Amino acid sequence: RAKSAGGNRYELADPEADARAITRHGLTTALPAALERGEFFIEYQPLVHLGDGSVHGAEALVRWCHPQHGVLGPDRFIPLAEHTGLIVPLGRWVLQEAVRQARFWQRRHSDGGPLRINVNLSPAQLHHPGLVADTVDVLERSGLEPGALCLEVTESALIGADADLLKPLRQLAEMGVDIALDDFGTGYSNLANLRRLPVSVLKLDRSFTQGMQRHPADPVDLKIVEGIVSLAHSLKLAVTVEGVETGAQAEQLRELGCDTAQGWYYARPGAPDRIHALVLADAV
Ligand code: C2E
Ligand code: MG
Ligand code: MG
Ligand code: MG
Repeated sequence: RAKSAGGNRYELADPEADARAITRHGLTTALPAALERGEFFIEYQPLVHLGDGSVHGAEALVRWCHPQHGVLGPDRFIPLAEHTGLIVPLGRWVLQEAVRQARFWQRRHSDGGPLRINVNLSPAQLHHPGLVADTVDVLERSGLEPGALCLEVTESALIGADADLLKPLRQLAEMGVDIALDDFGTGYSNLANLRRLPVSVLKLDRSFTQGMQRHPADPVDLKIVEGIVSLAHSLKLAVTVEGVETGAQAEQLRELGCDTAQGWYYARPGAPDRIHALVLADAV
C-alpha cells in the first residue's frame, strides 16, 4: 500500500514500521492489566567486588512475561510505561519486590555481610511527589536498612536537573540510601556537575568496557577510564562497571581502580535463587 502524500509525491508504506507501531500500541494498552495480573517479574544480576570476586549485591531488572509475545525485556516496555505514567506503579512494585527479596537474602545469609540491592528509577518516578514517602514505606515494611538500597538514575535524567528535582534524591541520600549515576559516560557527562549531585556511585557504561575488548586496548580509552575513576574517587564516589564479559576486561578494570563490576563474565541476570548460590559459594 502506497500512501499518497499529496500532489505527485508518494510515500512508501513501511509494513514493518506499521507492525511495530501496532505492537507498541497493543503493549501500551496492555500494561495496566499486566501489572494487575502479575505478569511482571524481576531478574537479579550480581554485582561483585573486583578485588576478590565476592558478591556485593544485585541489580533488579524487570521483565514482562507477555501471554502472546513471551518474555519482553525492559527496553520494549519501560519507555511505553514511562510515556503513560504506568512506570510509577510499576516502579513502586519493582522497588517493593526487590527490597523484600534483598531482606530475604540478608536473613538467610546473616553472616555473609550486607547484601545490597540496586533498583533503577526512571525520570517519571523522579518527578513523582510520592518517591520519598514510598521508598521510606517500602524500607520500613521490609526492615531493610536504607544503606542496603541503591537507586540508579541515569545521567540523562539528571541533565539540567534543578534544585526541586534533586531534593527528593538528596533526602533519600541523607537517609543513607545510595544514589548511583547509571550509564555514566553516555550522555553529556559534565564531570564538574557531579559535585552538585547527591550521588555516591558512578556506574560506568558498558561502552567503556566494550572499548577494552581489543588487544591491546586503546591506550587513550584506558587513560579516560583511569581519569574518570580517579576523579570519582577524589569525590568519594565508588565506581561500578557494567558489561564485563571477559576475565581480561575484569582484570584491566581492577587495575584501573574500579571497585565493583557487573556483567556476563560473572553472571547473567537470573532468578533470585542464583544469588543465593553465588553468595554461598562466596565467590563467583
Ligand atoms: P541498565 O540499568 O544499564 O542495566 C544493565 C543492562 O545491561 C541490563 O539490560 C543487563 O541485562 C545488561 N547487561 C548486564 N551485563 C551485561 C553484559 O555483560 N553484556 C551485555 N551486552 N549486557 C549486559 P536489561 O535487563 O535489558 O535492562 C535494560 C535497561 O532497562 C536497564 O539498563 C535499565 O535502564 C532499564 N530497566 C531495567 N529494569 C528497570 C526497572 O525496574 N525500572 C526502570 N525504570 N528501568 C529498568
Ligand atoms: Mg541500572
Ligand atoms: Mg546501567
Ligand atoms: Mg546500561
